[in-house]
Parts: sequence; C-alpha cells; structure tokens
Amino acid sequence: MDKYNRKLLQNVFPTDWKNPKPADIYDLVVIGGGPGGLAAIVNACQLNAKVAVVEKEHLGGECLNVGCIPSKALLRCSRAVAEVSHASEYGIEIPRGWKVDFTKVMERVRRLRSEISAGDAPAKFNQLGADVFLGMGRFIGTHQLQVGSQTLRFKKAIIATGTQPVRLTTPGLKDIGYLTNQTVFNLTALPPRLAVIGGGPIGCEMAQAFQRFGSKVTFITHNANLLPRDDATATELLKTVMLAEGIQIFVKTEVERFEKRGKEKVLHLKGGKSLVVDEILIAVGRVPAVEGLDLQKAKVAFDLKTGIACEDSMQTSNPDIYAIGDVSWRHKFTHVSKEMAKLAVQNALNGGQFKRSSLVIPWCTYTDPEIAHVGMNEMEAEERGIPVKTLMAELSHIDRAVVDGETIGFAKLHVKDGTDQLLGATLMARHAGDMISELSVAIASQKGLTALAQAIHPFPTQSEVIRSAADVLQKSMKMKKPARKKAA
Ligand SMILES: Cc1cc2nc3c(=O)[nH]c(=O)nc-3n(C[C@H](O)[C@H](O)[C@H](O)COP(=O)(O)OP(=O)(O)OC[C@H]3O[C@@H](n4cnc5c(N)ncnc54)[C@H](O)[C@@H]3O)c2cc1C
Repeated sequence: MDKYNRKLLQNVFPTDWKNPKPADIYDLVVIGGGPGGLAAIVNACQLNAKVAVVEKEHLGGECLNVGCIPSKALLRCSRAVAEVSHASEYGIEIPRGWKVDFTKVMERVRRLRSEISAGDAPAKFNQLGADVFLGMGRFIGTHQLQVGSQTLRFKKAIIATGTQPVRLTTPGLKDIGYLTNQTVFNLTALPPRLAVIGGGPIGCEMAQAFQRFGSKVTFITHNANLLPRDDATATELLKTVMLAEGIQIFVKTEVERFEKRGKEKVLHLKGGKSLVVDEILIAVGRVPAVEGLDLQKAKVAFDLKTGIACEDSMQTSNPDIYAIGDVSWRHKFTHVSKEMAKLAVQNALNGGQFKRSSLVIPWCTYTDPEIAHVGMNEMEAEERGIPVKTLMAELSHIDRAVVDGETIGFAKLHVKDGTDQLLGATLMARHAGDMISELSVAIASQKGLTALAQAIHPFPTQSEVIRSAADVLQKSMKMKKPARKKAA
C-alpha cells in the first residue's frame, strides 16, 4: 500500500464515497464497473437515460487494476531491458555491471496505473449524470437489485461482472502461497526463480518479462503449444524466441503436487521430475464472476464455467437483462467488452437490433515480438466450408524491419480461394498490435486485398509486410488471368 496504490484506491474505490439515494426506478442499472460496465454507462448517459452503476471492488475492473494497464506498463520496462541488453548491436556500449532496479520498475507500474485511474473515478460518472453505488450487487427479483441495504429498481439491466482467476486445486498449492494477476503487480522484489503456470497470453507475457528482469523463469503448460488460440507458425516462433532468451519451457506438463521446503517451493511434475523455485505465478485461465449475484432470483440462466447464457442480441433468459464482456462471451478483451456495451445499450434502450456476432474482433498478445490476429484462421474457414488460400510474407524481406533489427515475424493473410476477399490474418512483429487495425478495417468494410495492395504504404515501414503479402495474391491472380482474345 504505497502512495501510488493509495492514490489508485482513492480514485477507484474512495472510502469516503457516499452512495446516493436510489431513484424510484432506473431506465438502466449496470452491475460491474469494469471497461464494459463503464462504457455502458457512458453510452446510456448520452441517451439521457436515468442510469446507475454498481461496483463491488474497484472501478476500472480487471483491465485498469490487475490486467491490461499494469501488465503493459511492466512489459514496456522489460522491452527497455531487451534494448539495453542488445545495445551493442546498435553500436552503443553500455558499461558492464548495469542492472535492473526491479523495485523502481514496479513503482513505475503502480505510478502509471494510479495516474490512469483518475479517468475511472466515480465523480466523473456522476458528472455525466449516472448514480454510482459502491458495494456488492445481488438480484432480489426480476427487476430489483440490492446493494447493501438499498434496493435499485430497474426497467433494464446489463450484467458486466467479468471474471476471476481459476483456482487450481492441485495438492499443496494453497499451503505454499502463490501469485496471480491480482497480486503480482504488488511485488517489490524480484523472485530469483519463478515458475509460470499457464500457456495463455498472460503466462507468455509475464514469463518473458520476468526472465528479462533477471528471474530464472520456468514456464509450464499442459497444452502442446503456447497460445493455443493463435496461429501455430507464430506460436512456434515465439517458443523459439523465449527459449533463446533462456526460459525453460515444459509443454504437455502438469504439476502433481506442490511442497514447501524452507523458503523454497517445490513443484513435483507428473512423470517424476521436480523443480525448485522461489515464487509461482498461476495464470491458468479465468472463470465468469457469477457467484453471489443470485441470478436465479432474476431468472437469468448461467453456467459456472461458460458464464451467463445470451442470445446474439446479448439478451439473457430474462429479456430485460443483458450480459456483456468477459462474464458472457469467449472473446475476453477490453475492446470487446466496450463494443458489446455500445450495442447492448442501443438494444436495451433504443430498440436496436445489434448482434455481437457482427463484431470483427482483433486481439494481440504483447510478447516481444507481438502476435496479433483478426477474423478467421484456416481451420475456422474450413469448418465453415469456405475454401481458403493463405498468403505469407516475412519481415526479413522488409527493409524497415531489417534496419530496425526486428526481422522475426511475418504477415499471414487468409482469403476466400479464387477471390481477394480477406477472411482473417495473423501478424507477428514488434508492434503487430498497432499494425493489425488496417486488416480489421479491410475485413469490417469488406475491402478486398486488391484495395490493400493498391494503398500506398509509407516507405520504410514494417506495415509494408501486409502489402507484400497482398501482392503475392495480385501476382498469382495476374498469372491465372486468361489471355485476352485478339479482336477479329
Ligand atoms: C494480466 C492481464 C492482462 C490483460 N491484458 C489485456 C490486454 O492487453 N488487452 C485486452 O483487451 N484485455 C486484456 N486483459 C483482459 C481484460 O482485462 C478483460 O477482458 C476486461 O477487463 C473485461 O472487462 P469487463 O468489463 O467485461 O470485466 P472486468 O474488467 O472483470 O470488470 C468486472 C467488474 O465487475 C465487478 N463485479 C463483479 N461482481 C460484481 C457484483 N456482484 N456487484 C458489483 N460489481 C461486481 C468487478 O469487481 C469488476 O470491477 C488482460 C487481463 C489480465 C488478467
């Protein structure tokens, strides 16, 4: 609880906050003040609706407090370490003996998080016209929610309660103590040996960052590949990069039991091997936060693993209650929660007919290099019976990547075979997350690859890899074009 965390709390969960007297009835009550819930409030206020938001812990939700913001602040520092480590490649000699001050790294993370948190303070939403209630919300009827001793009556409600980390029940784990995303950003000292368990984006990002800071990282996943949702070429390449950085990787591996030996933590792996570490970070996934909401009383159907059941319109089994974001869909990203919020508010308050399936969803894992994806991959296209052609261009042939010394990566574009219609794409590049939007726009606006190949890309930029891949199609189409008949 340093001064930055105190400032954070003062912004997102002020202890002196007094909940207002509830209105007789609200047009919309939003449960959960994460990115999805807060976006819903902003959109509903723009429609001049009488709205309230209920948040049990910290406004800003997972993203601000224990997710995107602190993790990306941490990754920025780990990139700086990589730059310094490779400085001699760029002709810069850094004197030997330089070191990472991990305490300062973490202080920076907490300082930036606290600065950004000002945007999620309850007074801001008050000023927009929303009532803000801090406390746990639970349904007491189909159109009533209780917060503490107060009852909020509503015409419509949106549930945006997000997720919580999966709790592993492996023997011994509870007794030895471990980190999750909810505690890791409060570290002040670097664990000399760290086991990261879980091969998804959080596990990969954190494993690479801590290894760069100087921890000896062992990375364990029960899957055959890292990032199982992503393109196999990209994830294989990422594995090579992580191995080269010195991370020990165990795939298809499970821990049978944990044991505490003095200050050390021992992982006994299935198959007989043991590992000794100082700290363990568990990142094995997230489960929907539905417990304690008393959803049965609101007649809202749910499943403990998959979350709140929804129509494509985001309506739940109670047609006046909608669910958005991580609690209700497999695409668990901040930008998706926010987009769903926009659509659900229109559907709930404005007679909209928007469907979540209409969203074109990009995502990015912020390892170095980053892996970004949008639309379908080959397998999804094949499952839907769409014949697919894949075009690829490598960064090693792109001048800007060469001069930047950032040649690991590629662009892979999937088009409907015989056409230039873009179905999906994967980019692997140092700033793939920034580069993918061009492809999202192309898919969302149904612009074909011809348009992409014709668009001038400034030289030299790494985005030229996209045009390069698009050019492959142009060339193959020209080659296939039948020769024009000569006029008689
Ligand atoms: C380490 C990490 C890194 C991440 N990085 C990225 C990234 O780079 N990019 C990205 O797009 N996504 C990232 N994510 C995912 C992102 O954080 C989530 O997708 C996003 O926060 C989901 O928003 P949400 O509004 O649906 O839910 P949440 O952010 O989980 O918010 C839900 C809110 O509801 C509140 N709540 C729950 N139950 C109740 C109740 N009964 N009453 C009142 N309030 C309640 C919770 O306290 C919480 O504040 C990351 C996640 C983690 C853990």
